[in-house]
Amino acid sequence: MTQNVAKLVFWGVRGSTPTLERDTWRYGGNTPCLELTAPGGSRFILDCGTGLRMLGNNWARSQSDFGVEAHVLVTHYHWDHIQGIPFFLPFFESQNRFHFYSFQSKFLGPDTFKKVLESQLASPYFPVDTTMMASTRCFSEVTGGEKWEVDGTRITAAWLNHPQGCLGYRLDTTAGSIVYATDNEPGVPEFDKNLRQFAQGADVLIYDAQYSPEQIASTRRGWGHSSWLEGVKIARESKVRNLVLFHHNPDSSDNVVDGFLSAARQEFPATWAAAEGMSLTLNERGVDVALRESRLAPRRRLRFNAVVSGQSEDGALFEEKATVRDLSLQGAYLILEHRPKLQSELRVVIEAAGEQSRSSLLSMRATVIHCKTGRENSQNGVGVVFIAEVDPAAPSD
Ligand SMILES: [Zn+2]
Ligand SMILES: [Zn+2]
Repeated sequence: MTQNVAKLVFWGVRGSTPTLERDTWRYGGNTPCLELTAPGGSRFILDCGTGLRMLGNNWARSQSDFGVEAHVLVTHYHWDHIQGIPFFLPFFESQNRFHFYSFQSKFLGPDTFKKVLESQLASPYFPVDTTMMASTRCFSEVTGGEKWEVDGTRITAAWLNHPQGCLGYRLDTTAGSIVYATDNEPGVPEFDKNLRQFAQGADVLIYDAQYSPEQIASTRRGWGHSSWLEGVKIARESKVRNLVLFHHNPDSSDNVVDGFLSAARQEFPATWAAAEGMSLTLNERGVDVALRESRLAPRRRLRFNAVVSGQSEDGALFEEKATVRDLSLQGAYLILEHRPKLQSELRVVIEAAGEQSRSSLLSMRATVIHCKTGRENSQNGVGVVFIAEVDPAAPSD
């Protein structure tokens, strides 16, 4: 059965440079890379940031050996949009076929993208060169205003306002339309107007929201980026259905991105903040958003009551009694008479107070990450993080 469905997956959402800081893990630290599977099954890759490596690994897990064909749309040649290329194994496998689309840079002239590949995979920057790229590759140089079609998906390119140039891409599939407009600075009337026309009526607008509106107006003016506020304005004026804030600043923690998202939602409720592993499914009913499973810490099944309050999809506040069915835990701090060795394994069994039944015991496997003797020699402060049991039979999100 063929369904009229398009699926977009975010493999990298971070701007400028990858981040590894823990406070950026929830949204993710890989630089831009998106995968679109169009209704007929055609594959598109939007940008080749470090997220591309994970896409390659995912294909290796899920594909047969028959080879894949994909259309790769590159917005521009800044590092964060190409640095995943050397680590995308499908480029190095002969059964695969890729069609690259990008623009002719005035700095590199004809065959810009080939030159980018050759200089990226050159000595002494990388151990192998492009002769090792065994896949079939063909290259198209496109420019702002150009339109073409791939297996029933109409693609349009538009110039954005960014140092050394950048193209936005619009993909109109039979299941819905996506506009990918990252690395864009507002404020030049001709570009601003053009982008609004380009995004008109799109089901999904993915937009550069790297900085705060205050930074765009002051210290980051001229850096080639935008904010959630500009995204909201475009989404409204162009009657976009969903806005996705993208290209998060490497110096923005998850809390900062949360703040941008909640500010944007006050103005335009159908706003999302791009997160690694997030997927958007477009079909005749609209757009379904799903996040990757992120509760990776060990979890324990149990059952107790809780009172939960929050905000429902229609914006109304609620409070209700709920049942907690499992908990995932990161770790604990313990006071022990013994001094366990760092990076050794412990078993921690937590007794829930006032409960007699066995189900109130939480048994956790843990590894020691900190151990310090207290003022009294008989007491040690021990930090542990919980680690997965050998048999992880827990339900997933
Ligand atoms: Zn960028
Ligand atoms: Zn850029």
